[in-house]
Amino acid sequence: MSWYDEVEYIREQARLNNEFFANSLPMIASENVLSPLCREMLLTDFHGRYAEGTPGQRYYEGCKFFDNVELKAMELAKKLFNCSYADVRPTAGTTANIGVLKALIKPGETAVVLDLANGAHISFGKWGGAGVRGINLVSYPFNDEEMNIDVDGAVKLIKKVKPKLALNGRSVFLFPSPIKELSEAAHDVGAYLVYDAAHVLGLIGGGQFQDPLHEGADVMTGSTHKTLPGPQGGVVLSNHKGDSDEDKSFLRKLGFGVFPGVTSSYHLHHVAAKAIAFAEHLEFGEAYARQTIKNAQALAQSLYERGFKVFGEKLGFTKSHQILLAIGPGKGKEASKKLEEAGIVTNMNTIPGDTDPLNPSGLRLGTPELTRIGMKEKEMDEIAEFYERVLLKKEKPEKIKEDVKEFRKDFQELHYCFKEGYRGYDYFELV
Ligand SMILES: *Cc1c(COP(=O)(O)O)cnc(C)c1O
Repeated sequence: MSWYDEVEYIREQARLNNEFFANSLPMIASENVLSPLCREMLLTDFHGRYAEGTPGQRYYEGCKFFDNVELKAMELAKKLFNCSYADVRPTAGTTANIGVLKALIKPGETAVVLDLANGAHISFGKWGGAGVRGINLVSYPFNDEEMNIDVDGAVKLIKKVKPKLALNGRSVFLFPSPIKELSEAAHDVGAYLVYDAAHVLGLIGGGQFQDPLHEGADVMTGSTHKTLPGPQGGVVLSNHKGDSDEDKSFLRKLGFGVFPGVTSSYHLHHVAAKAIAFAEHLEFGEAYARQTIKNAQALAQSLYERGFKVFGEKLGFTKSHQILLAIGPGKGKEASKKLEEAGIVTNMNTIPGDTDPLNPSGLRLGTPELTRIGMKEKEMDEIAEFYERVLLKKEKPEKIKEDVKEFRKDFQELHYCFKEGYRGYDYFELV
């Protein structure tokens, strides 16, 4: 046997994975598919290079063309988010978050956060980035019915504990956070407000969600591959202008948090692809974000009418790309497994009241990828019917899988990008 057999084995898995996703309904709320022009950047020579530092101030030579790309990426990010500071170097949303924590808070100091059970992300949790930084976490009260931070309680909490940072990071993110109120309270006690937009970055860039940097957030971090359908990566954004010594020092600390704080090589091919994703979002982001939200609302309504328990009922279920379903105590995993057998990819999720993250009672659904392959409200109704057949009527998943594959046939091409019509799931043979 040659080790080449192993290579072929890995290639075969990639081929099968492409085929699986091309024939399924990908509904993980944090996932998306890459446009052809973003994808092209990932294959360029930028991949192999180093560019530590900032454009024009490098530790290595050979960065001439990359400097132009990074400057362009920063310029496009500032345009897209209408702000004055952009760092496109973080290699992930988590990296961006830890870089910001490194910049703005010291070990032993206090930050106020959302609980994981209420939809927070691990990077602001004790077992994740916040724990790595050794910071003391105090949780906001949460309003289950409104699926949101309890504003009055949170403002009181900020005034009482006088944290260094007020954090807002949400992986279950149905409705905008009360940023104006939280940031006013934070600023009153000398704290900064950090808004982690990992999930909703593309909705914000498309002007269809809240606008945190203009509602009072000092920093906004994000992932560049969720509702912003770019390459895997992160960003740090701010609307601070560096117009006083203190403000200059704030921005300097932010930059220093990312490099040398949490990066060395920052995956230059991804930075190039981010630049293209920002340009594509400036062109198509508004239409894409609008349709993504409309699809989530249509799907939620249709699921509700078919008998599912959908969160946020009194507020129209969702104002984002996400839907949260209550499936039954501890039944989330079983439900997501059944759906996978039927060709529908989602994830189990904790819902308010859950205590065991391994046995949660809910499912989180997302519409970003379905929207990108051209689906609209009408298709959402058909998808709700698939959910009804799998989870309520308990039909055999194998049969439904065939129907899903047939349904998916007409939705193979990518939209909301340049070179529209490219088949996003084709496996291309390079060598
Ligand atoms: C996904 C997510 C992240 C992490 O992003 P990565 O790019 O996967 O590291 C951070 N914060 C929130 C709220 C998220 O949902």
